Amino acid sequence: MGEFMLKQSVNKVWYGIFTSFAALGIRHGISTRLGGHSTAPFHSLNLGLHTGDDAEAVWNNRQLFCQAVGLAPDKVVTAEQIHGVVVEQVTVADAGRGAKHYHEAIKGTDALITNVPGLPLMLFFADCVPVLIVDPVAKAVGISHAGWKGTVGKIAQKTVLAMQQQFNTNPADCLVGIGPSIGPCCYEVDEVVINKLKVNFDNWEELVEPHSNHWRLNLWEANRHQLREIGVPDNTITVCDVCTACNTEIFFSHRAEAGRTGRIGAIIAL
Ligand SMILES: [Zn+2]
Repeated sequence: MGEFMLKQSVNKVWYGIFTSFAALGIRHGISTRLGGHSTAPFHSLNLGLHTGDDAEAVWNNRQLFCQAVGLAPDKVVTAEQIHGVVVEQVTVADAGRGAKHYHEAIKGTDALITNVPGLPLMLFFADCVPVLIVDPVAKAVGISHAGWKGTVGKIAQKTVLAMQQQFNTNPADCLVGIGPSIGPCCYEVDEVVINKLKVNFDNWEELVEPHSNHWRLNLWEANRHQLREIGVPDNTITVCDVCTACNTEIFFSHRAEAGRTGRIGAIIAL
């Protein structure tokens, strides 16, 4: 069972790692908002280009974060992120797509997988759930962007199944890290969400708690459940248990900051 811990790099960037990934030498990280160039409301390590922030500041921030993690910023592959459930396999030819320009990111996609060593996959988040996946046996990695739509559409599960199809990944070999995102303490949802949840999750009642006229949804458990369902061992899934809405001094929160905020990045390479 791994842990999530924050550390500071030599270039003064604070970011989080999963100890289970680090033990395998997998270069990865989840950024915080600390130590970057952006000004309010994107202060300061905003990595999202589609936020209204200054593109030059974002590129400087991405370089800082990539240096901290030890990956090449100009090789980073990113996706458009449309709250869908499409998974794309990334190859050498995709290196650098979306690294500097949002319009070059892989279109219509919310999850990326690759078996190319050293090719960094990066997605961006402010409350949505980052799911990082490592298959140390077939040697492949994946990353998913799971907001409520992605979570109820089981994008994390689809990502592992895409790895199984493309790389012969056995879900039983996978290690997963579920990163900082809005927690069950803060994530109130309405009937629209609950109705979709009911369709895809037999255990939906275990994932919600009634709260005034609404429900509170546990996105972390919904993602853990869909991974267990296909055979990812429970003890290889690390849920970091850090709520972005409760911790806006360290992370960006779309909900707690009324949409005027930046994005953290989650990055992983084989
Ligand atoms: Zn919270």
